[in-house]
Amino acid sequence: MKKIEELSPNERAFVESIYAQCTEEGDCLIWGGRVTSSGYPRIWIDGKNLMVRRLLVELKYDRPLASGEIAASKCKDPLCLCWAHAKAMTTAERRAETGADGGYSSHTKGLRISISHRKTAKLEGGEESAVAIRMDSRASHVVGPDYGISASMVRKIRRGVAWKTIQSPFAGLGARA
Ligand SMILES: [Zn+2]
Repeated sequence: MKKIEELSPNERAFVESIYAQCTEEGDCLIWGGRVTSSGYPRIWIDGKNLMVRRLLVELKYDRPLASGEIAASKCKDPLCLCWAHAKAMTTAERRAETGADGGYSSHTKGLRISISHRKTAKLEGGEESAVAIRMDSRASHVVGPDYGISASMVRKIRRGVAWKTIQSPFAGLGARA
C-alpha cells in the first residue's frame, strides 16, 4: 500500500485537490463537494461522474479494484476520504458489516432508511438534544458518542435533515426508550 508521499507528483496533486474540498473532523477528512444520491463523494472528470473514494483507494492500493470489491472507509463514514481510513473491501465483507452495525451498500438502501429512522427515534432527549447538538461547536465525531449516535447522524441533525421534519411523529420516543 502506498503512502501519500509515495504518489507521483500528478497523483499527489489530485489527492491534494480532493483534500482541499474536505474538512478535518477528528481523524477524518469529510468531503464537502458533490455527492451521489446515496450520499457518496463524487466528482466530474472528463465528462465522467467518478466516485472519489474509489479513486483514492485505487491510488493507495496501486491497482484497480477487482469486481466484487468496493471502496470503503475504516470509520464507516460515507463522506470520509481520509487516506488512512480508505480501504478496499469485498461486498461480502460489507454485507457482514451491514448486519453488525448498520453500515450499508447501494443494495441495502431501504435498510439504510429504516436505520436512520431508528437512530433518529433513539436520540435520547429528542428535540432538546437535537437543539443542543446544533449549538455544540465541537466536531461531529466528538459530539456523536456523547449522544450515542454516529458522526454522520450529527451532521444530518445539524443540516436539519434529521430532527426537523420528523419531530412530531417521533415525539416522546426518546424519552420512553
Ligand atoms: Zn474517517
